Amino acid sequence: MTAAVSISNVSQRYGQATALTQVSLEIEAGEFVVLLGPSGCGKTTLLNLIGGFTEPTEGHILIGTRDMAGVAPKDRPTTTVFQDYALFPHMTLRDNVAFGLRMRGMDRAKRSAKAEAMLALVGLEGRGDRRPHELSGGQRQRVALARALAVEPDVLLLDEPLGALDLKLRRQMQGELKAIQRRVGTTFVHVTHDQEEAMAIADRIVVMNAGRIEHVAPPREVYLQPKTLFTASFMGEINRIPVQGGNAPFGPVPAPDGTLCIRPEALSPHGSLRIGLCRIDDAAFFGTHIRAHVSPLTAPDLRLVVHLPQSQPVEPGRVLDLGAETYVVLTE
Ligand code: ATP
Repeated sequence: MTAAVSISNVSQRYGQATALTQVSLEIEAGEFVVLLGPSGCGKTTLLNLIGGFTEPTEGHILIGTRDMAGVAPKDRPTTTVFQDYALFPHMTLRDNVAFGLRMRGMDRAKRSAKAEAMLALVGLEGRGDRRPHELSGGQRQRVALARALAVEPDVLLLDEPLGALDLKLRRQMQGELKAIQRRVGTTFVHVTHDQEEAMAIADRIVVMNAGRIEHVAPPREVYLQPKTLFTASFMGEINRIPVQGGNAPFGPVPAPDGTLCIRPEALSPHGSLRIGLCRIDDAAFFGTHIRAHVSPLTAPDLRLVVHLPQSQPVEPGRVLDLGAETYVVLTE
């Protein structure tokens, strides 16, 4: 089961505070969309509006062709997975997963069979008799996912579902979540403030800032061609270099004015935009690469962060000839 979500001109105010301002977003049926942004940017508010836990101050939300105005959460074709799992500790995993089906009046044999199938879907085949306390955090989150999917929602809402897991488990669960989404075809709307998580799982990332949408695009585009300085900086480390009259401090740039944005890993000896000779100020070994600060000889006050190969000699004072392979010039 799957459906498109159409959000048009939605604003949300709490007294004097504005949580969302004129947000519009079209989500396709079967799409995996990630709402990404810093704390307080309005991600959870938007998710809660789709789920019906809050009614928008202004604007409309459609799921499929149906306007959701005044439709209670339990009557919407949505379910939500929260960070804290919210499993019933005294129930078996089977009964936890079957809970929503029981509420809908499905008979015991049918709902148990469905619950077992959902547990198999999330990699917990044959564990229906266990109880939540016998599981690891990652396994509990899988049960919560199975429970939410058991009622076959058109849209699954996920509010920082992996936030309580350690980094290694989170990375593993990201892969599993994406694979499960592909298998069931349900529309997933997933909230996180972790940009790597967003890139790992999303078909499209919705970058949010202070109650507004900054950029909506596939991960590669959001990272490599950010539309705004906020998106450029939020998606990872980036060098921001002022451009005036077609010139950056180190030389000419193919844009009249703005901010030249270059990711540290885009700087290399081969880049087409020439930065020229740069002196290494300091460097640190990061495992996958060496992170160094360098300054162009023609602009010694400009300090750039560059990622260099592990084999690169990086003693301070060494000079490298650098260019940028990919970059954007933003004019906001
Ligand atoms: P986080 O990542 O910290 O959960 P978020 O991006 O999900 O943040 P929201 O929880 O949507 O942000 O909150 C957006 C803004 O709306 C914040 O400034 C928050 O303080 C405010 N806000 C949210 N819910 C309420 C409420 N019930 N009453 C008043 N203000 C609220």
